[in-house]
Amino acid sequence: MDERCERILQEILAEEPILEYAFPDPQTIGFSDRIRWVCEHECPRYGTSWSCPPAVGSVQACAARCRAHEGAFIFSTVAEVQDITNLEETLATRMAHEEVTARITERFRREYGKARVLTLSTESCSLCSRCTWPDAPCRHPDKMFPCVESYGIVVSELAEAEGMSFDNGPNVVTWFSLIFFGGEETGASGDTGTAASGRKETAASGR
Ligand code: SF4
Repeated sequence: MDERCERILQEILAEEPILEYAFPDPQTIGFSDRIRWVCEHECPRYGTSWSCPPAVGSVQACAARCRAHEGAFIFSTVAEVQDITNLEETLATRMAHEEVTARITERFRREYGKARVLTLSTESCSLCSRCTWPDAPCRHPDKMFPCVESYGIVVSELAEAEGMSFDNGPNVVTWFSLIFFGGEETGASGDTGTAASGRKETAASGR
């Protein structure tokens, strides 16, 4: 870890409720067409948001965008719920994680520059009551983070490879975000020239 990463890490560990973290090598992160198939065939958000496929571009384009960065930082936060099978209750814990993700993103942007930071987070973007896709540019490209899975990354497999815990208890929701930093200026968007946001991970679903 270089000096800049060390500096960022010390600050965010002191200030943010992170459970676990790792610095995976962008060159060894796997990208899967299988998860994109799931997006396309099983997710109602497919084709409805700048944060999801097909707006984010092909899996190959997403992989190239991520691998153009020199480093990556994955972290998790957790939230306890009464009943993890209650989707409404589970999803209600998402925004706290998104706020942490936004603050950590800003910290990386201050160090590396906005154009050299690409953040992927949870679920499909819900910042606007109605997404502008595909008729107009994203209203908040700086705040909208593409879903990790939308890029073809299976976050459970990445977390496991990095020794991070996916299951933190029977009624504990575990959320992950992945931040790429440094390297070339590639922009955070897909084919559209804007950006995007993502999908949740629960300890119960293992998805
Ligand atoms: S910020 Fe608004 S326009 Fe942009 S992806 Fe999210 S919902 Fe769509």
